[in-house]
Amino acid sequence: MIRTGAEYLDNIRDDREIYVDGERVEDVTTHPMFKPIVDVRARIYDMAHDPATSNVMSYEENGEQFAVGLKLPYTPEDWTAKRDAVNAVMWDIGGVVTRMGDETIGEMWSLWDGKDVLNEIDPRFSENVERHILDAVRNDPFHVSANTDPKGDRSKPPQEQDPDMLVHVVKETDAGIVIRGAKYETAAAYAEQAFLKPTIANWGNEKLSDYALGVILRMNAPGVKHICRTGFATRASAEDYPLSTRFDEVDTLMVLDNVLIPWEDVLFYQHTRAATFIRATLHRYSAFAFVQRILTYADMMIGTALFNVRQTGLEKQQAVQEKLAELACYREGINAHLTAAIALAKKSPAGLLMPDPSMLYTGRVHACTRLPAMVHLTRELCGGQICVTPNFAEFEASETAPWMEKFYTINERWVADDRRKLLAYARDLLNSDYASHRLTFQLFAQSPPFAHLGAVYRNFDWSGPLGFVQNSAGLSDRVMDDEA
Ligand SMILES: Cc1cc2nc3c(=O)[nH]c(=O)nc-3n(C[C@H](O)[C@H](O)[C@H](O)COP(=O)(O)OP(=O)(O)OC[C@H]3O[C@@H](n4cnc5c(N)ncnc54)[C@H](O)[C@@H]3O)c2cc1C
Repeated sequence: MIRTGAEYLDNIRDDREIYVDGERVEDVTTHPMFKPIVDVRARIYDMAHDPATSNVMSYEENGEQFAVGLKLPYTPEDWTAKRDAVNAVMWDIGGVVTRMGDETIGEMWSLWDGKDVLNEIDPRFSENVERHILDAVRNDPFHVSANTDPKGDRSKPPQEQDPDMLVHVVKETDAGIVIRGAKYETAAAYAEQAFLKPTIANWGNEKLSDYALGVILRMNAPGVKHICRTGFATRASAEDYPLSTRFDEVDTLMVLDNVLIPWEDVLFYQHTRAATFIRATLHRYSAFAFVQRILTYADMMIGTALFNVRQTGLEKQQAVQEKLAELACYREGINAHLTAAIALAKKSPAGLLMPDPSMLYTGRVHACTRLPAMVHLTRELCGGQICVTPNFAEFEASETAPWMEKFYTINERWVADDRRKLLAYARDLLNSDYASHRLTFQLFAQSPPFAHLGAVYRNFDWSGPLGFVQNSAGLSDRVMDDEA
Protein backbone atom coordinates (compact mmCIF):
# COMPACT_ATOMS: atom_id res chain seq x y z
CA MET A 1 0.00 0.00 0.00
CA ILE A 2 1.38 3.38 -0.87
CA ARG A 3 0.83 6.29 1.45
CA THR A 4 0.23 9.93 0.67
CA GLY A 5 2.48 12.76 1.79
CA ALA A 6 -0.27 13.90 4.18
CA GLU A 7 -0.40 10.45 5.79
CA TYR A 8 3.37 10.52 6.30
CA LEU A 9 3.18 13.99 7.86
CA ASP A 10 0.37 12.89 10.19
CA ASN A 11 2.40 9.92 11.28
CA ILE A 12 5.51 11.87 12.27
CA ARG A 13 3.49 14.62 13.94
CA ASP A 14 3.70 12.85 17.30
CA ASP A 15 5.33 13.55 20.63
CA ARG A 16 8.83 12.47 19.56
CA GLU A 17 11.58 14.23 21.49
CA ILE A 18 13.58 16.48 19.13
CA TYR A 19 16.03 19.22 20.11
CA VAL A 20 17.88 21.72 17.95
CA ASP A 21 19.76 24.92 18.81
CA GLY A 22 18.95 24.32 22.48
CA GLU A 23 15.20 24.17 21.97
CA ARG A 24 12.60 21.42 21.88
CA VAL A 25 10.96 21.07 18.46
CA GLU A 26 7.20 20.92 18.88
CA ASP A 27 6.26 19.86 15.38
CA VAL A 28 8.93 18.53 13.04
CA THR A 29 6.66 18.98 10.02
CA THR A 30 6.39 22.76 10.45
CA HIS A 31 9.68 23.70 12.14
CA PRO A 32 11.59 25.90 9.61
CA MET A 33 14.76 23.83 9.84
CA PHE A 34 13.04 20.55 9.04
CA LYS A 35 10.07 21.62 6.92
CA PRO A 36 11.87 21.83 3.53
CA ILE A 37 13.32 18.31 3.76
CA VAL A 38 10.16 16.86 5.34
CA ASP A 39 8.23 18.34 2.40
CA VAL A 40 10.62 16.66 -0.02
CA ARG A 41 9.91 13.31 1.64
CA ALA A 42 6.18 14.01 1.54
CA ARG A 43 6.46 14.92 -2.14
CA ILE A 44 8.10 11.54 -2.84
CA TYR A 45 5.07 9.84 -1.26
CA ASP A 46 2.77 12.03 -3.35
CA MET A 47 4.69 11.25 -6.54
CA ALA A 48 3.43 7.68 -6.23
CA HIS A 49 -0.12 9.06 -6.58
CA ASP A 50 0.54 11.87 -9.05
CA PRO A 51 -0.72 10.75 -12.50
CA ALA A 52 2.45 12.22 -14.06
CA THR A 53 4.79 10.02 -11.98
CA SER A 54 2.75 7.20 -10.41
CA ASN A 55 3.83 4.74 -13.13
CA VAL A 56 7.49 5.20 -12.37
CA MET A 57 7.12 5.44 -8.56
CA SER A 58 4.70 2.57 -7.94
CA TYR A 59 3.72 -0.86 -9.23
CA GLU A 60 0.58 -2.92 -9.01
CA GLU A 61 0.19 -6.33 -7.44
CA ASN A 62 -3.12 -8.09 -6.81
CA GLY A 63 -5.00 -4.87 -7.46
CA GLU A 64 -2.95 -2.83 -4.97
CA GLN A 65 -0.24 -0.21 -5.54
CA PHE A 66 3.16 -0.47 -3.83
CA ALA A 67 6.29 1.73 -3.79
CA VAL A 68 9.01 0.80 -6.30
CA GLY A 69 11.76 1.91 -3.89
CA LEU A 70 10.85 -0.72 -1.29
CA LYS A 71 10.10 -3.53 -3.77
CA LEU A 72 12.09 -6.71 -3.30
CA PRO A 73 14.35 -7.01 -6.38
CA TYR A 74 14.01 -10.32 -8.26
CA THR A 75 14.83 -9.27 -11.84
CA PRO A 76 17.04 -6.80 -13.71
CA GLU A 77 13.83 -4.94 -14.58
CA ASP A 78 13.15 -4.42 -10.87
CA TRP A 79 16.52 -2.68 -10.60
CA THR A 80 15.90 -0.60 -13.71
CA ALA A 81 12.57 0.45 -12.23
CA LYS A 82 14.34 1.51 -9.01
CA ARG A 83 16.90 3.48 -10.99
CA ASP A 84 14.15 5.21 -12.95
CA ALA A 85 12.22 6.04 -9.77
CA VAL A 86 15.30 7.67 -8.19
CA ASN A 87 15.93 9.64 -11.40
CA ALA A 88 12.30 10.78 -11.41
CA VAL A 89 12.59 11.99 -7.81
CA MET A 90 15.84 13.89 -8.40
CA TRP A 91 14.38 15.53 -11.50
CA ASP A 92 11.15 16.47 -9.72
CA ILE A 93 12.79 17.96 -6.64
CA GLY A 94 15.71 19.48 -8.57
CA GLY A 95 18.43 18.28 -6.19
CA VAL A 96 19.86 15.29 -4.38
CA VAL A 97 18.42 13.63 -1.30
CA THR A 98 19.99 10.43 -0.07
CA ARG A 99 18.33 9.22 3.13
CA MET A 100 14.81 8.76 1.82
CA GLY A 101 14.18 5.09 2.64
CA ASP A 102 14.87 3.30 -0.65
CA GLU A 103 18.61 3.70 0.03
CA THR A 104 18.44 2.14 3.51
CA ILE A 105 15.88 -0.67 3.22
CA GLY A 106 18.43 -2.82 1.33
CA GLU A 107 20.33 -3.33 4.60
CA MET A 108 17.37 -5.43 5.78
CA TRP A 109 17.52 -7.54 2.62
CA SER A 110 21.17 -8.33 3.42
CA LEU A 111 20.04 -9.61 6.79
CA TRP A 112 17.42 -11.76 5.05
CA ASP A 113 20.20 -13.29 2.93
CA GLY A 114 21.77 -14.39 6.20
CA LYS A 115 18.67 -16.28 7.32
CA ASP A 116 20.45 -19.65 7.38
CA VAL A 117 23.40 -18.21 9.27
CA LEU A 118 21.09 -16.48 11.75
CA ASN A 119 18.95 -19.60 12.21
CA GLU A 120 21.99 -21.71 12.87
CA ILE A 121 23.19 -19.27 15.54
CA ASP A 122 19.87 -18.39 17.15
CA PRO A 123 16.60 -19.39 15.46
CA ARG A 124 14.44 -17.05 17.55
CA PHE A 125 14.62 -14.02 15.31
CA SER A 126 14.69 -14.81 11.60
CA GLU A 127 10.88 -14.73 11.48
CA ASN A 128 11.10 -11.13 12.70
CA VAL A 129 13.49 -10.25 9.87
CA GLU A 130 11.12 -11.65 7.25
CA ARG A 131 8.04 -10.01 8.78
CA HIS A 132 9.72 -6.60 8.90
CA ILE A 133 10.83 -6.83 5.27
CA LEU A 134 7.31 -7.73 4.14
CA ASP A 135 5.81 -5.06 6.43
CA ALA A 136 8.04 -2.46 4.77
CA VAL A 137 6.74 -3.50 1.33
CA ARG A 138 3.14 -3.43 2.60
CA ASN A 139 3.18 -0.31 4.79
CA ASP A 140 5.63 2.00 2.97
CA PRO A 141 7.39 3.38 6.07
CA PHE A 142 10.24 5.91 6.00
CA HIS A 143 13.06 3.62 7.09
CA VAL A 144 16.61 4.84 7.93
CA SER A 145 19.87 3.38 9.18
CA ALA A 146 21.61 3.46 12.58
CA ASN A 147 25.20 2.18 12.62
CA THR A 148 27.55 4.66 14.15
CA ASP A 149 27.96 5.04 17.91
CA PRO A 150 29.95 7.88 19.53
CA LYS A 151 32.46 5.07 20.39
CA GLY A 152 34.57 7.16 22.77
CA ASP A 153 38.19 5.99 23.17
CA ARG A 154 38.70 3.56 20.29
CA SER A 155 41.71 1.99 21.97
CA LYS A 156 39.59 0.68 24.84
CA PRO A 157 36.87 -1.99 24.89
CA PRO A 158 33.45 -0.63 25.91
CA GLN A 159 33.68 -2.25 29.33
CA GLU A 160 36.73 -0.10 30.19
CA GLN A 161 34.98 3.23 29.58
CA ASP A 162 31.48 4.67 29.80
CA PRO A 163 29.59 1.60 28.54
CA ASP A 164 27.06 3.78 26.73
CA MET A 165 29.68 4.83 24.15
CA LEU A 166 28.37 1.81 22.20
CA VAL A 167 24.70 0.78 22.17
CA HIS A 168 24.11 -2.24 24.40
CA VAL A 169 21.42 -4.18 26.22
CA VAL A 170 20.94 -3.30 29.87
CA LYS A 171 17.99 -5.51 30.70
CA GLU A 172 15.84 -8.31 29.34
CA THR A 173 12.13 -8.33 30.21
CA ASP A 174 9.15 -10.42 29.14
CA ALA A 175 8.24 -7.60 26.78
CA GLY A 176 11.66 -7.26 25.13
CA ILE A 177 15.17 -5.90 25.61
CA VAL A 178 16.04 -2.52 27.07
CA ILE A 179 18.89 -0.74 25.23
CA ARG A 180 21.14 2.24 26.07
CA GLY A 181 23.66 4.32 24.17
CA ALA A 182 23.52 6.63 21.15
CA LYS A 183 23.80 6.60 17.35
CA TYR A 184 24.49 9.22 14.69
CA GLU A 185 21.75 9.06 12.13
CA THR A 186 20.79 11.22 9.18
CA ALA A 187 17.05 11.95 8.84
CA ALA A 188 16.14 10.15 12.09
CA ALA A 189 14.11 13.07 13.43
CA TYR A 190 11.63 12.88 10.55
CA ALA A 191 11.74 9.15 9.83
CA GLU A 192 9.61 6.40 11.27
CA GLN A 193 11.94 3.51 11.95
CA ALA A 194 15.56 2.43 11.65
CA PHE A 195 17.53 -0.78 11.39
CA LEU A 196 19.96 -0.40 14.29
CA LYS A 197 23.08 -2.60 14.42
CA PRO A 198 26.58 -2.40 15.93
CA THR A 199 29.51 -0.50 14.42
CA ILE A 200 32.02 -2.94 15.91
CA ALA A 201 33.88 -4.91 13.25
CA ASN A 202 36.24 -6.88 15.43
CA TRP A 203 34.78 -8.81 18.39
CA GLY A 204 38.01 -10.61 19.27
CA ASN A 205 37.27 -13.97 20.88
CA GLU A 206 33.91 -12.95 22.27
CA LYS A 207 31.10 -15.27 21.19
CA LEU A 208 28.34 -13.48 23.07
CA SER A 209 28.06 -9.80 23.81
CA ASP A 210 25.46 -7.38 25.08
CA TYR A 211 26.71 -5.08 22.31
CA ALA A 212 25.80 -7.52 19.51
CA LEU A 213 22.26 -6.51 18.67
CA GLY A 214 20.22 -5.70 15.62
CA VAL A 215 16.76 -4.24 16.08
CA ILE A 216 14.03 -2.22 14.45
CA LEU A 217 13.92 1.00 16.38
CA ARG A 218 10.84 3.26 16.35
CA MET A 219 11.81 6.90 16.09
CA ASN A 220 9.08 7.95 18.51
CA ALA A 221 9.70 5.26 21.15
CA PRO A 222 9.88 6.51 24.77
CA GLY A 223 13.52 7.22 25.68
CA VAL A 224 14.60 8.10 22.11
CA LYS A 225 15.95 11.68 22.07
CA HIS A 226 16.88 13.32 18.77
CA ILE A 227 19.56 15.94 19.39
CA CYS A 228 20.08 17.52 15.99
CA ARG A 229 22.88 19.54 14.48
CA THR A 230 21.80 22.97 13.37
CA GLY A 231 20.62 23.12 9.77
CA PHE A 232 21.40 25.23 6.71
CA ALA A 233 17.81 25.78 5.65
CA THR A 234 17.14 28.66 8.00
CA ARG A 235 20.49 30.39 7.68
CA ALA A 236 20.29 31.44 4.06
CA SER A 237 18.06 33.04 1.46
CA ALA A 238 16.60 30.75 -1.18
CA GLU A 239 17.76 33.09 -3.98
CA ASP A 240 21.38 32.99 -2.86
CA TYR A 241 21.49 29.39 -1.60
CA PRO A 242 18.97 27.42 -3.67
CA LEU A 243 20.20 23.98 -2.51
CA SER A 244 20.93 24.61 1.19
CA THR A 245 17.43 25.92 1.69
CA ARG A 246 15.74 22.85 0.23
CA PHE A 247 17.89 19.76 0.58
CA ASP A 248 19.56 19.83 3.97
CA GLU A 249 19.13 16.32 5.41
CA VAL A 250 19.45 17.07 9.09
CA ASP A 251 21.58 14.60 11.11
CA THR A 252 20.81 13.52 14.64
CA LEU A 253 22.73 12.35 17.65
CA MET A 254 20.06 9.88 18.68
CA VAL A 255 20.29 9.18 22.39
CA LEU A 256 18.77 5.91 23.57
CA ASP A 257 17.93 6.34 27.22
CA ASN A 258 16.74 2.87 28.29
CA VAL A 259 14.57 2.20 25.26
CA LEU A 260 12.39 -0.92 25.29
CA ILE A 261 12.59 -2.92 22.06
CA PRO A 262 9.74 -5.44 21.91
CA TRP A 263 10.88 -9.01 21.14
CA GLU A 264 9.08 -8.87 17.77
CA ASP A 265 11.43 -6.04 16.74
CA VAL A 266 14.64 -7.87 17.68
CA LEU A 267 16.49 -9.14 14.58
CA PHE A 268 19.59 -10.61 16.22
CA TYR A 269 20.87 -10.54 19.75
CA GLN A 270 24.02 -11.44 21.71
CA HIS A 271 25.74 -13.56 19.03
CA THR A 272 28.82 -11.77 17.71
CA ARG A 273 28.86 -14.06 14.64
CA ALA A 274 25.49 -12.64 13.57
CA ALA A 275 26.81 -9.10 14.06
CA THR A 276 29.95 -9.92 12.05
CA PHE A 277 27.85 -11.40 9.26
CA ILE A 278 25.69 -8.31 8.91
CA ARG A 279 28.63 -5.89 8.98
CA ALA A 280 30.32 -7.83 6.16
CA THR A 281 27.27 -7.89 3.87
CA LEU A 282 25.43 -4.72 4.94
CA HIS A 283 25.61 -2.69 1.73
CA ARG A 284 25.31 -5.38 -0.95
CA TYR A 285 21.98 -3.83 -2.05
CA SER A 286 21.88 -0.41 -0.46
CA ALA A 287 25.16 0.75 -2.05
CA PHE A 288 23.35 0.82 -5.39
CA ALA A 289 21.00 3.65 -4.45
CA PHE A 290 23.79 5.45 -2.56
CA VAL A 291 26.09 5.44 -5.59
CA GLN A 292 23.26 6.41 -7.94
CA ARG A 293 22.85 9.64 -5.96
CA ILE A 294 26.48 10.50 -6.77
CA LEU A 295 25.66 10.08 -10.46
CA THR A 296 23.10 12.87 -10.09
CA TYR A 297 25.76 14.94 -8.32
CA ALA A 298 28.02 14.40 -11.31
CA ASP A 299 25.25 15.62 -13.62
CA MET A 300 24.77 18.69 -11.45
CA MET A 301 28.48 19.46 -11.67
CA ILE A 302 28.70 18.85 -15.42
CA GLY A 303 25.63 21.00 -16.15
CA THR A 304 26.91 23.80 -13.94
CA ALA A 305 30.42 23.78 -15.41
CA LEU A 306 29.23 23.55 -19.01
CA PHE A 307 26.65 26.33 -18.68
CA ASN A 308 29.31 28.51 -17.14
CA VAL A 309 31.91 28.01 -19.87
CA ARG A 310 29.20 28.44 -22.50
CA GLN A 311 28.10 31.72 -20.92
CA THR A 312 31.59 33.04 -20.94
CA GLY A 313 32.57 31.72 -24.37
CA LEU A 314 35.28 29.42 -23.00
CA GLU A 315 33.81 26.13 -24.17
CA LYS A 316 35.57 26.32 -27.52
CA GLN A 317 39.03 26.14 -25.95
CA GLN A 318 40.50 22.68 -26.20
CA ALA A 319 41.93 22.75 -22.67
CA VAL A 320 38.46 23.54 -21.33
CA GLN A 321 36.93 20.72 -23.38
CA GLU A 322 39.44 18.30 -21.87
CA LYS A 323 38.38 19.31 -18.36
CA LEU A 324 34.73 18.79 -19.29
CA ALA A 325 35.67 15.40 -20.73
CA GLU A 326 37.28 14.47 -17.44
CA LEU A 327 34.00 15.20 -15.66
CA ALA A 328 32.18 13.11 -18.26
CA CYS A 329 34.60 10.19 -17.68
CA TYR A 330 33.88 10.38 -13.96
CA ARG A 331 30.14 10.38 -14.60
CA GLU A 332 30.24 7.53 -17.07
CA GLY A 333 32.53 5.54 -14.77
CA ILE A 334 29.77 5.58 -12.15
CA ASN A 335 27.14 4.84 -14.76
CA ALA A 336 29.16 1.89 -16.07
CA HIS A 337 29.61 0.36 -12.62
CA LEU A 338 25.90 0.64 -11.83
CA THR A 339 24.91 -0.78 -15.22
CA ALA A 340 27.40 -3.64 -14.98
CA ALA A 341 26.38 -4.42 -11.39
CA ILE A 342 22.89 -5.23 -12.64
CA ALA A 343 23.99 -6.88 -15.90
CA LEU A 344 26.16 -9.27 -13.84
CA ALA A 345 23.75 -9.57 -10.91
CA LYS A 346 23.27 -12.97 -9.28
CA LYS A 347 20.63 -14.68 -7.21
CA SER A 348 21.25 -14.14 -3.51
CA PRO A 349 20.79 -16.76 -0.77
CA ALA A 350 17.28 -15.35 -0.12
CA GLY A 351 16.44 -15.56 -3.84
CA LEU A 352 16.75 -11.83 -4.50
CA LEU A 353 18.71 -10.41 -7.44
CA MET A 354 21.90 -9.11 -5.86
CA PRO A 355 23.95 -6.52 -7.81
CA ASP A 356 27.39 -7.89 -8.66
CA PRO A 357 29.27 -6.99 -5.47
CA SER A 358 32.64 -6.40 -7.10
CA MET A 359 31.17 -3.99 -9.66
CA LEU A 360 29.06 -2.23 -7.04
CA TYR A 361 31.76 -1.84 -4.40
CA THR A 362 34.48 -0.77 -6.83
CA GLY A 363 31.93 1.68 -8.28
CA ARG A 364 31.32 3.08 -4.80
CA VAL A 365 35.07 3.62 -4.29
CA HIS A 366 35.37 5.24 -7.74
CA ALA A 367 32.40 7.55 -7.09
CA CYS A 368 33.41 8.55 -3.54
CA THR A 369 37.18 8.88 -3.85
CA ARG A 370 37.11 10.90 -7.09
CA LEU A 371 34.32 13.17 -5.90
CA PRO A 372 36.50 15.83 -4.15
CA ALA A 373 38.70 16.13 -7.27
CA MET A 374 35.61 16.48 -9.47
CA VAL A 375 34.15 19.15 -7.19
CA HIS A 376 37.43 21.02 -7.45
CA LEU A 377 37.54 20.68 -11.23
CA THR A 378 33.99 22.03 -11.47
CA ARG A 379 34.96 24.89 -9.17
CA GLU A 380 37.89 25.62 -11.46
CA LEU A 381 35.68 25.63 -14.56
CA CYS A 382 33.24 27.99 -12.86
CA GLY A 383 35.99 30.51 -12.14
CA GLY A 384 36.36 32.80 -9.17
CA GLN A 385 33.11 34.66 -9.76
CA ILE A 386 31.12 32.08 -7.80
CA CYS A 387 32.65 33.31 -4.59
CA VAL A 388 32.87 37.04 -5.26
CA THR A 389 29.40 37.67 -6.68
CA PRO A 390 27.17 39.86 -4.50
CA ASN A 391 23.85 38.57 -3.20
CA PHE A 392 20.42 38.74 -4.83
CA ALA A 393 19.60 41.86 -2.80
CA GLU A 394 22.22 43.83 -4.77
CA PHE A 395 20.60 42.78 -8.02
CA GLU A 396 17.33 44.27 -6.70
CA ALA A 397 18.35 47.43 -4.83
CA SER A 398 17.88 50.61 -6.88
CA GLU A 399 21.42 51.98 -6.28
CA THR A 400 23.23 48.77 -7.24
CA ALA A 401 20.89 47.01 -9.69
CA PRO A 402 22.07 48.91 -12.83
CA TRP A 403 25.69 47.98 -12.10
CA MET A 404 24.78 44.35 -11.53
CA GLU A 405 22.77 44.36 -14.73
CA LYS A 406 25.71 45.87 -16.63
CA PHE A 407 28.43 43.53 -15.38
CA TYR A 408 26.44 40.30 -15.21
CA THR A 409 24.78 40.53 -18.61
CA ILE A 410 27.10 38.79 -21.06
CA ASN A 411 25.13 38.85 -24.30
CA GLU A 412 21.55 38.60 -25.54
CA ARG A 413 21.25 35.00 -24.50
CA TRP A 414 22.80 35.34 -21.10
CA VAL A 415 21.26 38.14 -19.11
CA ALA A 416 22.21 39.17 -15.57
CA ASP A 417 19.39 37.27 -13.86
CA ASP A 418 20.38 33.90 -15.36
CA ARG A 419 24.07 34.48 -14.71
CA ARG A 420 23.31 35.37 -11.09
CA LYS A 421 21.17 32.26 -10.68
CA LEU A 422 23.82 29.99 -12.16
CA LEU A 423 26.56 31.46 -9.97
CA ALA A 424 24.39 31.16 -6.84
CA TYR A 425 23.61 27.55 -7.73
CA ALA A 426 27.29 26.80 -8.36
CA ARG A 427 28.31 28.42 -5.07
CA ASP A 428 25.81 26.32 -3.14
CA LEU A 429 26.78 23.16 -4.99
CA LEU A 430 30.53 23.61 -4.58
CA ASN A 431 31.48 26.22 -1.98
CA SER A 432 28.87 26.64 0.74
CA ASP A 433 28.58 25.08 4.22
CA TYR A 434 26.02 22.80 2.67
CA ALA A 435 28.42 21.81 -0.13
CA SER A 436 31.18 20.74 2.23
CA HIS A 437 28.69 18.98 4.46
CA ARG A 438 27.50 17.00 1.43
CA LEU A 439 31.08 16.10 0.55
CA THR A 440 31.64 14.76 4.07
CA PHE A 441 28.32 12.96 3.82
CA GLN A 442 29.51 11.10 0.73
CA LEU A 443 32.79 10.32 2.49
CA PHE A 444 31.22 8.78 5.58
CA ALA A 445 27.46 8.31 5.52
CA GLN A 446 27.58 4.80 4.12
CA SER A 447 30.57 3.81 6.28
CA PRO A 448 34.08 5.34 6.08
CA PRO A 449 36.51 4.91 3.15
CA PHE A 450 38.50 2.10 4.80
CA ALA A 451 35.28 0.07 5.05
CA HIS A 452 34.52 0.75 1.36
CA LEU A 453 37.94 -0.64 0.47
CA GLY A 454 37.40 -3.56 2.86
CA ALA A 455 34.24 -4.44 0.92
CA VAL A 456 36.20 -4.35 -2.35
CA TYR A 457 38.90 -6.58 -0.87
CA ARG A 458 36.34 -9.15 0.26
CA ASN A 459 34.40 -9.19 -3.01
CA PHE A 460 36.91 -8.81 -5.84
CA ASP A 461 37.75 -12.13 -7.50
CA TRP A 462 41.50 -12.28 -6.89
CA SER A 463 41.78 -15.72 -8.50
CA GLY A 464 41.61 -14.24 -12.01
CA PRO A 465 44.81 -12.13 -11.82
CA LEU A 466 46.55 -14.79 -9.73
CA GLY A 467 45.72 -17.49 -12.28
CA PHE A 468 46.96 -15.29 -15.09
CA VAL A 469 50.31 -14.66 -13.44
CA GLN A 470 50.65 -18.29 -12.37
CA ASN A 471 50.20 -19.34 -16.00
CA SER A 472 52.32 -16.65 -17.64
CA ALA A 473 55.16 -16.93 -15.11
CA GLY A 474 55.02 -20.74 -15.12
CA LEU A 475 54.45 -21.00 -11.36
CA SER A 476 53.58 -24.34 -9.78
CA ASP A 477 50.02 -25.15 -8.58
CA ARG A 478 51.29 -24.93 -5.00
CA VAL A 479 51.27 -21.13 -5.14
CA MET A 480 47.49 -21.15 -5.72
CA ASP A 481 46.86 -22.79 -2.35
CA ASP A 482 45.19 -20.15 -0.15
CA GLU A 483 46.39 -21.73 3.05
CA ALA A 484 50.04 -21.72 1.97
C1 LIG B 1 27.08 13.74 7.14
C2 LIG B 1 27.13 12.42 7.82
C3 LIG B 1 25.99 11.64 7.89
C4 LIG B 1 26.01 10.40 8.54
N1 LIG B 1 24.88 9.64 8.58
C5 LIG B 1 24.89 8.46 9.23
C6 LIG B 1 23.71 7.65 9.33
O1 LIG B 1 22.66 7.99 8.78
N2 LIG B 1 23.75 6.51 10.03
C7 LIG B 1 24.90 6.10 10.64
O2 LIG B 1 24.88 5.08 11.28
N3 LIG B 1 26.03 6.84 10.58
C8 LIG B 1 26.04 8.00 9.89
N4 LIG B 1 27.18 8.75 9.83
C9 LIG B 1 28.33 8.33 10.61
C10 LIG B 1 29.39 7.68 9.80
O3 LIG B 1 29.00 6.38 9.48
C11 LIG B 1 30.67 7.74 10.62
O4 LIG B 1 31.11 9.07 10.64
C12 LIG B 1 31.74 6.83 10.03
O5 LIG B 1 31.33 5.49 10.21
C13 LIG B 1 33.11 7.06 10.68
O6 LIG B 1 33.01 6.95 12.07
P1 LIG B 1 33.60 8.11 13.00
O7 LIG B 1 33.06 9.41 12.51
O8 LIG B 1 33.32 7.73 14.38
O9 LIG B 1 35.15 8.08 12.66
P2 LIG B 1 36.32 7.33 13.42
O10 LIG B 1 35.91 5.96 13.82
O11 LIG B 1 36.84 8.23 14.47
O12 LIG B 1 37.38 7.19 12.26
C14 LIG B 1 38.09 8.32 11.75
C15 LIG B 1 39.12 7.86 10.77
O13 LIG B 1 40.10 7.06 11.40
C16 LIG B 1 40.56 6.07 10.50
N5 LIG B 1 40.17 4.73 11.01
C17 LIG B 1 39.35 4.47 12.06
N6 LIG B 1 39.21 3.14 12.23
C18 LIG B 1 39.95 2.56 11.27
C19 LIG B 1 40.19 1.19 10.90
N7 LIG B 1 39.66 0.17 11.58
N8 LIG B 1 40.96 0.96 9.83
C20 LIG B 1 41.51 1.96 9.11
N9 LIG B 1 41.31 3.27 9.41
C21 LIG B 1 40.55 3.57 10.47
C22 LIG B 1 39.91 6.33 9.17
O14 LIG B 1 40.67 7.23 8.42
C23 LIG B 1 38.61 6.99 9.62
O15 LIG B 1 37.98 7.69 8.58
C24 LIG B 1 27.21 9.96 9.16
C25 LIG B 1 28.36 10.75 9.08
C26 LIG B 1 28.34 11.95 8.41
C27 LIG B 1 29.59 12.77 8.37
